[in-house]
This record gives sequence, C-alpha cells and structure tokens, in this order.
Amino acid sequence: MAARLVPLGSGSQGNATLAEFGSTRILIDAGLAAKTLGRRLESLGVPPESLSAVLLSHEHHDHAQGAELFSRRYGVPVFSSIETLEALDRSPVHFSGWYPLEHAGITEIGAVRVDAFPVPHDAARPVGFVLESGGVRAGIVTDLGHATTLVVERLRGCHVLMVESNHDDAMLVNGPYPWQVKQRVSSRFGHLSNAETGQLLERVVDETCQAVVLAHLSEHNNTPELALAATRRALRRAGRVSVAIHVAERLSPSAPVTAR
Ligand SMILES: [Zn+2]
Ligand SMILES: [Zn+2]
Repeated sequence: MAARLVPLGSGSQGNATLAEFGSTRILIDAGLAAKTLGRRLESLGVPPESLSAVLLSHEHHDHAQGAELFSRRYGVPVFSSIETLEALDRSPVHFSGWYPLEHAGITEIGAVRVDAFPVPHDAARPVGFVLESGGVRAGIVTDLGHATTLVVERLRGCHVLMVESNHDDAMLVNGPYPWQVKQRVSSRFGHLSNAETGQLLERVVDETCQAVVLAHLSEHNNTPELALAATRRALRRAGRVSVAIHVAERLSPSAPVTAR
C-alpha cells in the first residue's frame, strides 16, 4: 500500500489536499471554490465523483468554503465534527451526506482508518488527521497554535507528514499586519512559526518518516526558503537528513508526494 498526498492549494487563499490510498480517495479540507476543486482534481486525472469523502479540519473559510457545493455537485459526503457543522451554520441536509467525525476515535472510510484528534486553534473544534491504510500512515495538521503532547504522539510513526509552517517570527513582527492580527497568528491558538514547526518535526520525524510537506505558508510573513531552512536544521538536529522536504504550492496543485 502507498499513500499519495497532493496539495491542491495551500495557505490563506484556500486549503485542500487529495489523499489517496489505493482506490480510496479523500479530500482533506475544501477551502477553494467547488469548481476550482473540481478543475484541479480533473487536471490530475482524478474525477471529483470518484472521491469517497471530504474531511473538514475546521470551519474557517480557507478550509471549508467549497465543501457544501462540492459535496452536492459531485455527490461526495462530508465528515466533520458536529461543532464544525454548527459553526458553518449548516445542517446535514446541506450536503450529499454528512457524517460526524468521531472525536478522538477512528472513522473508517473505504480502506482508510481516519483518526481525527484535537488541535489548539481559534475555531469551534479543530482537528488534525492521521490516515492509515495497510500499515501506511499519513499525518496532516495545518492551523495549530502549538504542538500539544497529543499532536506529537499522533504524528509519530507516520510515513509522510504534512504540517503547517506558517510564518517567520521576524517577518511577522516587522510585517504589514495590524498588531491584533500579529498577536492572533502567533498565539497558542493561532499558527505554527517555522521555528515551532521545526521543534515539532524534531520530535516526531523518526525512521518511519520518508517525506515532509510544509503547508499553509503565509504570503506576507514567510518565504519557502526560510521555511525549508528551518525544517532542514530541525531534521539535521534529529539526525534525519534523508527525509525529503517539500513545500506546498499556494495557488496551484503541488507535485504528488508518495510514501510506502
Ligand atoms: Zn484556521
Ligand atoms: Zn487556515
């Protein structure tokens, strides 16, 4: 079994990632317009109707804006926490099927076991994901203010990891955002800085991990070079220099990352 991750877009303009395990295809977040999601999937040779599920990590616009229309247009069910559904001001009838994500429990979708676990972020009940099939695990966490012990525990032993590397601390402090926004982003319920992502990866990247995808980079407060450099330093500290590091494209599909 192989896991294939393809970020379709990543950052404050919209997040969605295709996760494939054999014939089971799952979309993690739907933060782009439904037609954009459909087009980008088709550009990869993936019919949108072939997806088994959309999983929503939380209700923020850049993660959920396309979920309702995508679900109805292509007949794909949506899985989220009840709190996320409520925060979206939606009910199950708005989707082509809606199912609750078991909080701190396993949801089975096709051949994939989904573990949705809580992450600290300023949303109703945000979650990160570990998807597992045939012994191959993919961990996906974007939008978290700090790495809790639970997050560290869940991400250990993954074959591929997609983690946000949102901002460079100095660029955020000196950047264009109003101070309230700077405070929110850097808070324990905001987003991980490059340094914090490095500290997290240093703790979780073990001999199982083959590839890391850095996601949700801030357009104004980060650069791919700074994010890459911080993660390279962290993996060197962890003695894991052979792990491949990728940076997700902000506005277009990224090259697929496969682990087995
Ligand atoms: Zn968010
Ligand atoms: Zn976000």
